[in-house]
Amino acid sequence: MNNEKQLEKFDVLLIEENPTHATLIIDQWNTVNTAKKSNVTHVRSVTDALDSLKTNTFSVLVLDLDSSETPAIESLSQILKASPATPVIALATTDEDALSTEVIQKGAQDYLIKAELTGPILYRTVRHAIERKKQLISLTLHNENLQAFAQAASHDLKAPLGNIKTISQIVLEEAGTSLEYPVLEMLRSLPVIANRLKKLIDDLLRFSLLGHKSLQLDHISLRSSIKIACEFLEEQIRNQGATIKIGPLDDVDADAALMTTVFQNLIGNACKYVKDVSPVICINTKTEGRFVVTMVQDNGIGIPEKEQQRIFEPLKRAVNASDYEGTGLGLSMVKRIIEAHQGQVWVESEPGEGSTFFFTIPQANSYTAS
Ligand code: ADP
Repeated sequence: MNNEKQLEKFDVLLIEENPTHATLIIDQWNTVNTAKKSNVTHVRSVTDALDSLKTNTFSVLVLDLDSSETPAIESLSQILKASPATPVIALATTDEDALSTEVIQKGAQDYLIKAELTGPILYRTVRHAIERKKQLISLTLHNENLQAFAQAASHDLKAPLGNIKTISQIVLEEAGTSLEYPVLEMLRSLPVIANRLKKLIDDLLRFSLLGHKSLQLDHISLRSSIKIACEFLEEQIRNQGATIKIGPLDDVDADAALMTTVFQNLIGNACKYVKDVSPVICINTKTEGRFVVTMVQDNGIGIPEKEQQRIFEPLKRAVNASDYEGTGLGLSMVKRIIEAHQGQVWVESEPGEGSTFFFTIPQANSYTAS
């Protein structure tokens, strides 16, 4: 490399059991770094590395995965635990897709094959690993701050709403008889407005926290997600006299808690958006290619064609929904959850004729690497 003047100096901890491999790696490293004299500290085991990390800090850790002492993933998690802010580059003898994917998912910044190692490749990988780790830490911090803000804002906004309800209650009890229309009506509507605002705050918080949850994929039965969703909606289903017909359903690999949220929103809406009829909701699945398609069909008020896309955006409601309570956040949560599962959601509907919501989830073992 000609531009050695611009090379940065790094403190590298090389965890490599095989001394010959270690010498080869350091020799390669020195072909680009002699001018800036980066420090490369070599240890032969994870145990030695953990000792060294107690008293030293490094710019980067280069971890040989072929250690005979500890399994690869355990080595990685031990050193990440000891030094969570330091980037890690994994080194392996063979190019194994499953292992390299797992290593990156578990927190390494890169995966290199020893036989392909040259000084410039190693140097470039170290620089990129440091940059990736910096970005990751700043993103994690940013997300944590946002989450803390959302929670604090939600708490601080809800407290005065409680006061509004209590005060309007007291005024009604103390002075209700001396008040007349429309003041009395206005006072009576205050708790309703406060409840609506509280629901909006809760939904916004739930919506903002969704982005921070990583998927927990399990082989699940959609029937059990629907059952739990119906338990949450029990009062609404009973009050509306809704009938829920569940057809044959395929099992999927999905996040069980999030699938319950999806059904809670779709069934809840199907119960809510009806006029002059008791809700009848049919839920079925079919297989199409590598996807399971779930259909939730209702006999409700339907959705005008030009609104059928925008209702999946946050806070957007259809024109014919103004007589029904709602915050316009449920379907955007559904969309976010389904897209996190590599699927899609859409609706087919005719005003006055009911709606069918469709969503796709990859069949078991059909997720693509992303
Ligand atoms: P919300 O129900 O709180 O308004 P959603 O995000 O769940 O919010 O739905 C967005 C909009 O989509 C609703 O306001 C309504 O206009 C429309 N919608 C959703 N589900 C149905 C349904 N089953 N039937 C008719 N309209 C629906």
